[in-house]
Amino acid sequence: MEAPNKLPELFGSMVFNEDTMKDRLSTASYEAWKKSVTDGTALELSTANEIAEAMKQWAVSKGATHFTHWFQPMTGVTAEKHDSFVEPAGGGKIIMEFSDKELVKGEPDASSFPNGGIRSTFEARGYTAWDPNSFAFIKDNSLYIPTVFLSYGGQALDKKTPLLRSIEKVNHEALRILRLFGDKTTKRVIPQVGAEQEYFLIDKNMYDQREDLRLTGRTLFGNMPPRGQELSDHYFGQLKPRVANYMIDLDNELWKVGVLSKTKHNEVAPAQHEMAPIYTDCNAACDQNQLAMELMKKVALRHDLVCLIHEKPFLGVNGSGKHNNWSLGTDTGKNLFKPGSTPSQNAQFLLFLAAFIKGIDEYQNTLRCTVASAGNDHRLGAQEAPPAVISIFLGDELERVVRSIIDGTAYKDGSKKTLKIGIDSLPQIRQDTTDRNRTSPMAFTGNKFEFRMLGSAQSVSGPNIALNTIMAEELRAFADKLESSKNFQSDMQKLIKKTLTEHQRIIFDGNGYEDSWLEEAERRGLSNLPSTADALPHYDDQENIDLYVRNGIYTEEEMHARRAIHEEIYNAQISIEARTMSDMLRRSILPAVSDFASDLAARAAAKEAVGFANGYEKTVGSKVAQLTDKLQSLNNKLESDLAKVPSDSTKALDYSRNVLMKDMMKAREVADKLEELTDSDYWPFPVYSDLLFSE
Ligand code: ADP
Ligand code: MG
Repeated sequence: MEAPNKLPELFGSMVFNEDTMKDRLSTASYEAWKKSVTDGTALELSTANEIAEAMKQWAVSKGATHFTHWFQPMTGVTAEKHDSFVEPAGGGKIIMEFSDKELVKGEPDASSFPNGGIRSTFEARGYTAWDPNSFAFIKDNSLYIPTVFLSYGGQALDKKTPLLRSIEKVNHEALRILRLFGDKTTKRVIPQVGAEQEYFLIDKNMYDQREDLRLTGRTLFGNMPPRGQELSDHYFGQLKPRVANYMIDLDNELWKVGVLSKTKHNEVAPAQHEMAPIYTDCNAACDQNQLAMELMKKVALRHDLVCLIHEKPFLGVNGSGKHNNWSLGTDTGKNLFKPGSTPSQNAQFLLFLAAFIKGIDEYQNTLRCTVASAGNDHRLGAQEAPPAVISIFLGDELERVVRSIIDGTAYKDGSKKTLKIGIDSLPQIRQDTTDRNRTSPMAFTGNKFEFRMLGSAQSVSGPNIALNTIMAEELRAFADKLESSKNFQSDMQKLIKKTLTEHQRIIFDGNGYEDSWLEEAERRGLSNLPSTADALPHYDDQENIDLYVRNGIYTEEEMHARRAIHEEIYNAQISIEARTMSDMLRRSILPAVSDFASDLAARAAAKEAVGFANGYEKTVGSKVAQLTDKLQSLNNKLESDLAKVPSDSTKALDYSRNVLMKDMMKAREVADKLEELTDSDYWPFPVYSDLLFSE
């Protein structure tokens, strides 16, 4: 483990970053790369060749022997195929080779990645193409080249391609607005993202004994331990030595590959922790979150721990989420969601704010779909995560400003004035309001929006594609209107007031965990899609197709394909859980409780023979025997229902949720009762108190 005081040297040491490129490339090639990144122009082949050569020399000097095109297929995890640099050089010798073609383009067989039926079967090849916006890095002696993944017809088969498209689009539309405010210097507007990542750590030996954790990432059985999170002593508590060492090790690994890991602490639940990086541009943040999840798991093994990223590893214990902090920044270092100090800056802030509010209100369903997953269904709407209803929390000060604009009333206590946008100053809006509403799915936290509905295991690409696209859509409509305006000041004021008035229903500052909010939300006409099975059918609703197609993010075909992929993944996950549960019941739990009951019966008989009291053996034994039979029949039902999953993925959604999940819940209830009654020597695997206090 490197000592942390070497941090400046360590940070990014395994990244082929801008400084390294500057060092190792000719000025012309460096500038060409830079231009391709800022202007989105294609790289000349000669430049690509020089970059490939420099990248290879750098990688080999760091001990790399292989390279891989690293991409983000629709599975949600990253994919990689490694080739070595080795080329025969005659006479039994080798040379280390890596050409422009290998840098720019790879051709993995795409047939085994989910494509939602997009690719005709005779054309199984896909191709990966280097994304010059993302830095290559070295991990495990391989040079990782971040790439997009496309079909031969050019359709996106991954999560990066649409993300890059959405980043471009929001840049374009935001620049149009900035120009209207007289900004001639900003060249680019770039979404900024900071993804806070929650996770659990448990002992590897315990993990290995749980088939459910190994196959599904969550426990399918188990009762709450006698001690849970009621003492609230874990949150921000002192780190245990093994965990502390893990975190040091993890930080070092993250820093090497350029992830700005900043904050680490214990979370609410026992064994739960969080890592938050410093925010960075959206594309890099998405890559880095994938990398972080991967390294979290890998580094844990070195400490005989297992890192669980699943949204709900333990029933009854707080699950894990991911907070996606999102804002728009400029290449000149400005944050467009930061209230300014002059009336004009504030008008601009309010216009971006109005666009955001309108967009979130109009496109609640697409946003909801981006956080729909089997794992996240256990959290959203429970009292530990936001409700499944989307709303925006603005905080006291900003809400008062918005109210005053809508109502035309005084915005400050005691003030008689009404706020004139672009003419008056805003009151001070504090950046870190202490009364931050933790129950809100989308909270304004001073200079950014914190989208809190994400599941911990999800790629953050989907939500950011949606946020960027929605914002681009609204900014385009605003720019179209205002560019043709004869009186910018007054038309802009009117537009802000009209927009806020029409979309105020999405603003909610109350407690999102209360049932009364769901009733209120319904009265307001807000959408409520409680589960993945409810949400996914809206994935390609006409309004969503229009949104993404109009902005050039997805084609209609890509949208249908993506819906199908998400449905298939959800159904597959539920079926895997159901099969795992049934396997554990059949091969471990039922035999174990049967043993226990017959041993109790034998003991009862033995005791009776000598005239001992045998109340315990008889009562518990008979209870266990009864529950065993009940469990057996519930498992039979689960197995027969598993055989009847509809082949149509949309029909299967409902079936998975309403038949399989319910069967599983019923079986679990009985199995958990048996766990309570059964001698711990007989129970076939570690229970929650072993797992949760094992780190
Ligand atoms: P909390 O846990 O209280 O929500 P943290 O400080 O743990 O807050 O995380 C906040 C996250 O937001 C960090 O990743 C931080 O870098 C990020 N962030 C801060 N400012 C911005 C911004 N302007 N745009 C996007 N993300 C930001
Ligand atoms: Mg947060």
